[in-house]
This record gives sequence, structure tokens and C-alpha cells, in this order.
Amino acid sequence: MTTLDESTSTSQSIAGRVAEVRANYRSGTTRPLDWRRRQLQAMVRMLKENEAEFQAALANDLGKPVAEGYISDIAFVVSEVKLMLKNLERWNKPRRVGTPLVAMPSRSRLVPEPLGVVLVIAPWNYPIQLLLVPAAGAIAAGNAVIMKPSEVSSATSGVLARLVDKYFDRSAIALVEGGVPETTELLDQHFDHIFYTGNGSVGRVVMAAAAKNLTPVTLELGGKSPVIVDDSANIEVAARRIAWGKWLNSGQTCVAPDYVLVDRKVESRFIDALHAAISEFYGDNPQTSESYGRIVSDRHFDRLTSMLGDGSVAIGGQHDAADRYIAPTVLVDVRHDSRIMAEEIFGPILPIIPVASVDEAITFVTERPHPLALYVFSERKAVVDRVVSRTTAGGVTVNGTLLHLTNPNLPFGGVGESGMGGYHGESSVRLFQHRKPVLSRGTRIDPKIAYPPYTEKKLKLFRKIL
Ligand code: NAD
Repeated sequence: MTTLDESTSTSQSIAGRVAEVRANYRSGTTRPLDWRRRQLQAMVRMLKENEAEFQAALANDLGKPVAEGYISDIAFVVSEVKLMLKNLERWNKPRRVGTPLVAMPSRSRLVPEPLGVVLVIAPWNYPIQLLLVPAAGAIAAGNAVIMKPSEVSSATSGVLARLVDKYFDRSAIALVEGGVPETTELLDQHFDHIFYTGNGSVGRVVMAAAAKNLTPVTLELGGKSPVIVDDSANIEVAARRIAWGKWLNSGQTCVAPDYVLVDRKVESRFIDALHAAISEFYGDNPQTSESYGRIVSDRHFDRLTSMLGDGSVAIGGQHDAADRYIAPTVLVDVRHDSRIMAEEIFGPILPIIPVASVDEAITFVTERPHPLALYVFSERKAVVDRVVSRTTAGGVTVNGTLLHLTNPNLPFGGVGESGMGGYHGESSVRLFQHRKPVLSRGTRIDPKIAYPPYTEKKLKLFRKIL
């Protein structure tokens, strides 16, 4: 196993580990569907047999409530992997496609083949899901995989390192722990695909490193995901759904509502409803609630509390450095040029910005980089259609938050600044396949028409059929 504590994180050992995995990929270890099936089954077993240990690590890293850990890290991966197991043959089967007259007589197929050795680099906020779901897609497509969990969620990283080594075929599936130096060493190696989830600045580092080897990348980044609430919205339901999506994992969710553009006419009713939702979910003092998490690190805590002054606190605002606790917080009177409106917040602070109309909200969104997610709450179909058709975002949930990413039939990913490439469900497997076009001809018939010498008669025929 390649872990820091075994002092195997030197450049040589990382290079050696990648080389070993590549040699096993070349020898064909990962190709049989049966091998892939066994690794995917092992992933499910690993999660089920060690749930308590994973939950303890998530609690240690993020104060993650057990229910949230179960839904978003354990069960999410299990259901994605089960879907892959169910469709393993179908998604890896060659597909017949038509052949034009010019190439007749012949048969054409798309033959899926793995890309090779895939590197998956994950962040700390959903440290199990964001490492294992892409890794499962890569395995299902027949690749060898190197996983690099985030050093920020160190407890979870440690558990994953130990268990990945125990449950998987270590000859072709490896986990490398570590931070910037180890990731930099990894990025110096040659991979056939790099799947990175995290912030856009590191995304640029990953893409630049990948360019050296012409390695394709998937970048799952973040951004400021807006919520638009129009005056026809069901305010109580909207507030509850926004509160759930915002304060899940203490706002440390890539698709969490970042800020709300609310029609001025319903602003105060909306803030009252948010207040009610927060009390309903987390009680009068969320710090004592078992359903509310913590900020991942002191650095992130300091970054977030330094933004509290960018507006007036309408709800919450309490914080406790020793406990890395920040209350569910709503800010009003936020300056558009303040830091909180420039950076992705990635924490439990929600700015509310009143607008005069849906068109003003649309302009606000389109003047900024494309977000990873966009949410619109309205009872008017025309308004929803206008928002969906006039804005660009990685994905949209209408009258809800986060849920588009739970549907495996909807590829999940960003666009522009929020990333490139989508996964989940079938897309997770397709992402790591090359669908090789193969055209096969028989030799019984070999019409001379296509061969030189070209004559007027042949040209006439070409003009007729092409
Ligand atoms: P992070 O700090 O854990 O970094 C992500 C990964 O990059 C880690 O594995 C880390 O070791 C590595 N890394 C960090 N600095 C590096 C460097 N200089 N060179 C090479 N590798 C480096 O996580 P983060 O970036 O703070 O994660 C939060 C961001 O991720 C937010 O912007 C969030 O929106 C985004 N995110 C996106 C998704 C998505 O699915 N699109 C999901 C979760 C988080």
C-alpha cells in the first residue's frame, strides 16, 4: 500500500507505484468483466462492512451528522456502483451502427475499450463519494486506477488508504495519500485520464500538467450557484428546500445555493420562512444540534468568518473557533462588489439580494461566470422556461436544490469556469471509455468501381451515389 506513514511517498515510490499499476494494466489484468465486477462488489462490501469506521472519520473531519454521511457518502456510492454492476455488460458491449453506401459491403461497430491508467484526485467535502464514484466508473470501464484523496479530510483519507488496499486488487488499483507535494509528483507521471474535483486554481494546475502528456481531463469545479426566487414561488417550501441545500454539510457542498436573488416583493416573507426552516431543522441553538456539521479546518473557518462583515446579519452570525462552528447565517444589505459576492462561499453563509424582476436576476447571473448549479423557484412555467433558456449552468433543479445530481440519468458536471465533463450513471462509465470505431469488410465481393484508374464513367457514378 502506498501511504505516507510507510514513507513510500517519495517521488520514486509514487513513480514506481504508477509504473507497477501500468504494467498490470498492459498485461490485461483489468480487462475481463469478471475482474471489474469483483472490484465493484468489493467497493460495496468495503463501504458496508466498515460503515461505522467511515462515519467516525467523517465526524472527525467534518462533524458530519450520521444521516448525512450515510446519504451522501455511503449510500450514494453504493447505489451508483449497483447501477454499474447491473449494466456492466450493456455499457461495455460493442454497438452496431449503420454503414453508408460508399463503404458497402461492410459492418460497423463501436467497440468500448478502457483508456488505461486513470488518476482520480478528490476534495475533502464529500471525501468518500467524490473519490469512489469516479473510481468506480473508471473500474467499470476496465481501467487501472490511482486514487488521491484530500489531505484536508485526513481521518477519512487514512481509513480509505487502509481499506482500499485491503479490499481491492492492489496490482491495478492503488491509493496514494498526501497533499500538494505528493499530488505534484503524481501529476508528473503519465496518466491516460485525470479526473479532478476541487477548486478552479488547482484545476488549472492539473490541466497544465495533463497537457504535457496530452492527457484528457475531467474537471469538476465549483463556483457561485445562484437561487432565483420569484414572487409567485411557494415561499415556505422554497425556504425549506433552500435551507436544506445550503446548510447540509454546513454549506460545504459544491452545488450548495451560494446566494439568493429574491423578488423584492417577497423578500421579508422569504427571510421569515428561512428563519422558521432553520429553527425547525436545527432548533434554537444549531451548535447543539446533531443534524448540523462543522467547518473542515481553521483556515476555512477564518476565511468564512472574515466575510461576515460583508453584509448585515439577518439570521445567525454566531461562531465558535474552538468548535469550528458557524451558525446557519443569512446576510442582507450585501455589497455586490464585496468579497462574499466575488468568491465561492463554500460555507454556511447565505447572502440575500433583492431584485425587481426575474429579468434583473437573469442579468445578474449571466454577467458572472457560469455556475455549477442554478436553482429557480416559481409557480409560473413561463418564468422557469425563461430562466432555464437564458442562463448557462452545469445543472438545474427547478423548485428544489441539489437534487439534479442524485439522478444518474442526468450527467453531473460544470460548464466554463465550473468545469468540464459530466459523470454519474452511464456517463461515469462512458467518460473512461474510448468507443473505438471498427469497420469490418468481407472479401467475397470486391467491386472494382472504387479503384483507379478513374474514368468518366466512374466519376459519373460517384456523382450519383455520393
Ligand atoms: P482540496 O483542498 O481538498 O483540493 C482538492 C484536491 O487537490 C486535493 O486532493 C488536494 O490534495 C489537491 N491539491 C490541492 N492543491 C494542489 C496543488 N497545488 N497541486 C496539485 N494538487 C493540489 O479541496 P478544495 O479545492 O478546497 O475543494 C473545494 C472546491 O471544490 C470548491 O470550489 C468546490 O465547489 C469544489 N467541488 C466541486 C465538486 C464538483 O463535483 N464539481 C465537488 C466538491 C467540491
